[in-house]
Amino acid sequence: NLYHLFESRFPADRTRRFLTLEDGPRQGVYYTYADIDAVSARFANVLVAMGVKPGDRVAVQVEKSAENVMLFLAVLRAGAVYLPLNTAYRRGEIAYFLEDAGPALVVCRPEDEAEMRELAAAAGVPQVATLGVAADGSLAEAGLEQPTTFATVPREKDDLAAILYTSGTTGRSKGAMMTHWNLGSNLLTLHDCWGFRPDDVLLHALPVFHTHGLFVGLGTVLLAGGSLLFLSRFDADAVLRLLPAATLMMGVPTFYTRLLAHPAFGRAQAATMRLFISGSAPLLADTHRAFQERTGHAILERYGMTEACMITSNPLEGDRIPGTVGFPLPGVELRVVGEDGAVLGPEETGVIEIRGPNLFKGYWNRPDKTAEEMRPDGFFITGDVGKVDARGYVHIVGRAKDLIISGGFNVYPKEVETVLDALPGVVESAVFGLPHPDLGEAVAAVVQKHPGQDGLTEAAVIAAVKAELAGFKVPKRVWFVPELPRNTMGKVQKALLRDTHRSTFAPPTPGS
Ligand code: ATP
Ligand code: MG
Repeated sequence: NLYHLFESRFPADRTRRFLTLEDGPRQGVYYTYADIDAVSARFANVLVAMGVKPGDRVAVQVEKSAENVMLFLAVLRAGAVYLPLNTAYRRGEIAYFLEDAGPALVVCRPEDEAEMRELAAAAGVPQVATLGVAADGSLAEAGLEQPTTFATVPREKDDLAAILYTSGTTGRSKGAMMTHWNLGSNLLTLHDCWGFRPDDVLLHALPVFHTHGLFVGLGTVLLAGGSLLFLSRFDADAVLRLLPAATLMMGVPTFYTRLLAHPAFGRAQAATMRLFISGSAPLLADTHRAFQERTGHAILERYGMTEACMITSNPLEGDRIPGTVGFPLPGVELRVVGEDGAVLGPEETGVIEIRGPNLFKGYWNRPDKTAEEMRPDGFFITGDVGKVDARGYVHIVGRAKDLIISGGFNVYPKEVETVLDALPGVVESAVFGLPHPDLGEAVAAVVQKHPGQDGLTEAAVIAAVKAELAGFKVPKRVWFVPELPRNTMGKVQKALLRDTHRSTFAPPTPGS
C-alpha cells in the first residue's frame, strides 16, 4: 500500500508540520505528521462505515484543502481507489465520469450536495458525502466521532491506487488506472533525483485533482518527511510573500510567466529557494532565460503524463537546458519511433514511446483504447512528438494529433510557433490546423501581442513568417487574442481553437 511507503518515511518527530494553510478563512491552520495519521484514520473509518470496500472507487470533487489531502490518504488506507475530479467540471462532465467509473461513493462540496445527489442517483452511485467549508464558514468534516486509528489495508503492487482522468486536451478524457507501485516507484525516483530533504518546504499552489499537484507535489514531500505551504490557488502576491519561507516550488509554466510579470519579483524573494520545477506544458526557452536572469535560478523542467506520472527530468546537478525536458528517469525506457514503426536515432523526430514501472495499467473501461496505444513489447505510445538530441536530452515538439497536413506536407506547429514567438511585439502564439477545401488542412495561428503593438497586423505577421519558412508552413490566417486559451493546468486548448475557427475556410453548406 502506497500509504505504508509514505508512513515508513514519516519523520521520527511526529510534531513536525506537514502542511500549513496559507490562504482562505482557515489561513495559519496546520497539520503535523501525527495529524496525518489520526485524521486520515478517522476518514478511513468513515469510508468503511459508509460501505466502501477495497477496490471500490471513491470519486472526489471538493475544494483544495488539507481535508482533501487527508481524504486522499484515507482512500489509500482503506484499500479503495482514489478518483479526483477537476473542480471546474460541470453537470454533464460529472455525469460522464460517474457513469464511466461507477464509484461506490462520491464526495462533493457542501454547496453542490443537492445537485450531486441527483447526478449520483442517475448514475447508480449509492452514497454521497460532503467535505469542505460550508456557506456559513463552518468546516463540514465527517466522522468526528470516529476512532483515530485504522489498520491500513495491505495491497499488492498491481492493485489500483487511483484512477485519474486525463486532461482531455486531445479528446474525451480517459481514466488512467495507476497502481500502488506505479506511483510508489515513480515518487521514490523523483524524490531521489531531485534530492528532496526532510528540511525542505514546498510551496504548493497547484490543484490536487491532477498528477502534478496530487502525486508529484504531495508524494515527493511525504517521502522526504518535508513540509508544505498550501495555497488554494496560484496568486503571484501570495507566492511572493511565501517564497522566503520555502525551499522548493512546483508549477506549470503560467506560474513562472506570472511571477516574471510581477514587478517586485527578484533575487530577494528566491534567496532561500533550492529548486523551481516546471511541467504539464512546455516552458518557453525565453521564460527559462528571463527567470534565470531575474532570480539566478535555472528552472528545472520535467515531462510527464497522467498515464505514467513522471517520465523525464532535467538534472539537479548539471545543465538544465532551456527548451528540453531532460533525460529519461532511471528505470524509464524512452524511444522515438518513425511513421513506419522503426526506432529512430538521435536528433530524429518521431513519436515518443515509453516503458517502465511507472507505466499505468490501462484505461478504465477502455481495453480497446489501451490496446491501440500499447506495443506488443510493452511500450506505450505517448502521442507526443519529439526527439532525443546528441547529448541525450529529450525535446518535446508537440502532439501527434496537432500535426497539420497541409497540401500533403507535414507541418509541426512548434516550428511555426517558434518563428512567431521570436517576432518583435509577440508574447506567445499557438498554431493549429483548420479544415480547408483545397489543402485538406490550412495552417492558422492565434497570437498574443505585447501591449501597445497596434502596428503589428495580420499581414505583417504573415509576411514575417514568409521570410523565414517554406510557403506551406505560413499561416493563412492569424488572429490576435488577449491571452491564449488555457485549461487549469496551463495547457493551450488547441481543440477549442480548431472548434472556434472551424468554418473559416469551409465552403458554405448548400442550402444554408
Ligand atoms: P488527453 O490525454 O486527455 O488529451 P493531456 O494529454 O493534456 O490530455 P495530461 O496527462 O494531463 O493530459 O498531460 C500530459 C501531456 O502534457 C503530455 O502528453 C505532454 O503533451 C504534455 N506535457 C507535460 N509536460 C510537458 C513538458 N514539460 N513540455 C511539453 N509538454 C508537456
Ligand atoms: Mg494525453
